[in-house]
Amino acid sequence: MTVQSKITSAAAEAAAVLGRLGVTESLWTGGNRPVRSPVTGEVMAQVHDASVAQVNAAIEAAHGAFLAWRNVPAPRRGELVRLFGEELRAAKADLGALVTLEAGKVTSESLGEVQEMIDICDYAVGLSRQLFGLTLATERPDHRMMETWHPLGVVGIISAFNFPVAVWSWNSALAFVCGDACVWKPSEKTPLTALAVQALFERACAKFGDVPAGLSSVVIGGREVGEALVDHPKVPLVSATGSTAMGRAVGPRLAQRFARALLELGGNNAAIIAPSADLDLALRGVAFAAMGTAGQRCTTLRRLFVHESVYDAFLPRLKAAYGSVKVGDPREAGTLVGPLIDAQGFELMQKALADAKAAGGAVTGGERVEMGEAFYARPALVEMASQADVVKRETFAPILYVMKYRDLADAIALQNDVPQGLSSSIFTNDMREAELFISARGSDCGIANVNIGPSGAEIGGAFGGEKETGGGREAGSDSWKAYMRRATNTLNYGKTLPLAQGVTFDV
Ligand code: NAD
Repeated sequence: MTVQSKITSAAAEAAAVLGRLGVTESLWTGGNRPVRSPVTGEVMAQVHDASVAQVNAAIEAAHGAFLAWRNVPAPRRGELVRLFGEELRAAKADLGALVTLEAGKVTSESLGEVQEMIDICDYAVGLSRQLFGLTLATERPDHRMMETWHPLGVVGIISAFNFPVAVWSWNSALAFVCGDACVWKPSEKTPLTALAVQALFERACAKFGDVPAGLSSVVIGGREVGEALVDHPKVPLVSATGSTAMGRAVGPRLAQRFARALLELGGNNAAIIAPSADLDLALRGVAFAAMGTAGQRCTTLRRLFVHESVYDAFLPRLKAAYGSVKVGDPREAGTLVGPLIDAQGFELMQKALADAKAAGGAVTGGERVEMGEAFYARPALVEMASQADVVKRETFAPILYVMKYRDLADAIALQNDVPQGLSSSIFTNDMREAELFISARGSDCGIANVNIGPSGAEIGGAFGGEKETGGGREAGSDSWKAYMRRATNTLNYGKTLPLAQGVTFDV
């Protein structure tokens, strides 16, 4: 049996799933943009790019919906999100299958991504009863000062291919309970999952009843469609997830018109394996964080600093894990590493490996695994003597650069010495080392973990990173405040008008 014949058609499966999820056929047939499955390389659908006029119309409709939606009490808005969560529960297997077909994730990770959507819906439903402001002490007698949080407007959501559905829900579930409307531009590589999510959302709207038309919409296309969203004066907030290059283009455009930017950009995440680390636990943590999702997570582990005293014990075990991991069709049980998203992803991986070799790196793995027109590669381990330039850039592929260290302060300095600042971790059983790593002079990332890898996130904690990762925070803690505007109110219930700071103005 050839390798190719093992791969069953992605196109037929996608058509069946889209039908079950209730996506209107004319939305994914007959359009200008082919959608390829990274699993087989086949074209699964032909979607329609939105014109700038259509993007503007979607924003106007969303703005109209916002004017009505902001008057609906927040706990009632939460009910819509609850109903949407129910639709996601019912459709979890199908939506997960579509994520696999379109983004190439192994089945358990695709189901995990849909579960994350369900989790944020639950979180947002609770939040819909907790959108609170503070009451503050005022220096003036018979006065009260407080803050009130109001709905903001239309939220533009631009998302990346690698979390084709969860990232939208991190934003939209909170935005909807906060009283906002959303216009979503998914990655041009993953529009089908976006159409499916929109269909499920519309089912929830039908059950809810009087949802204003245009509260949620999807506009498909590339950079121009994203720019139309970024430039529109009726979009007060754009949440954009993707590469640092994208954020560098989007950030200044939003600043130009004083709109808010929530940027979730590239990462270059590291882990430190200290002398006291539990090496069994570290091996599992490193293997999943570095090879999972074929290295295509923003939180993927890309740099590993191993203490010289455990290097020779740890490296052979890690190499064995790299050698034995099953690379292949992500729909098959036992596969741990699926495909790269496309040819460009594979080429960037090969370019980085060539650069690493030129910088003196010793490469194990990284070869292409022939699977028809799709791009599969064995994950690569690269032993480096120092943190060369190639190590400091994010290559969105399964490459792990491994370096030795002697002194923890040096390892922390190296881990921080990259332009990105998303996620990090240390494996240690030494309480002093653990505390130092998460202290003010430890990791400079938005996420700093102890005895778990840097990859992944859990709803409830604020997600995002520093430096070239963009500074945005989503999905937990007080990140809901980004989707609302704050008003400070001072009320006088007395009969005089004392001015603040002792100012007198008697007329
Ligand atoms: P990408 O930057 O190529 O595209 C992301 C999105 O931005 C797409 O929808 C794209 O069409 C749009 N876009 C690109 N240029 C634009 C512009 N000038 N104006 C408006 N929109 C524009 O990223 P990708 O290849 O889809 O995803 C991989 C990258 O995303 C990696 O760098 C990864 O680290 C990052 N990422 C970050 C997070 C996070 O939360 N920090 C999460 C997922 C992915």
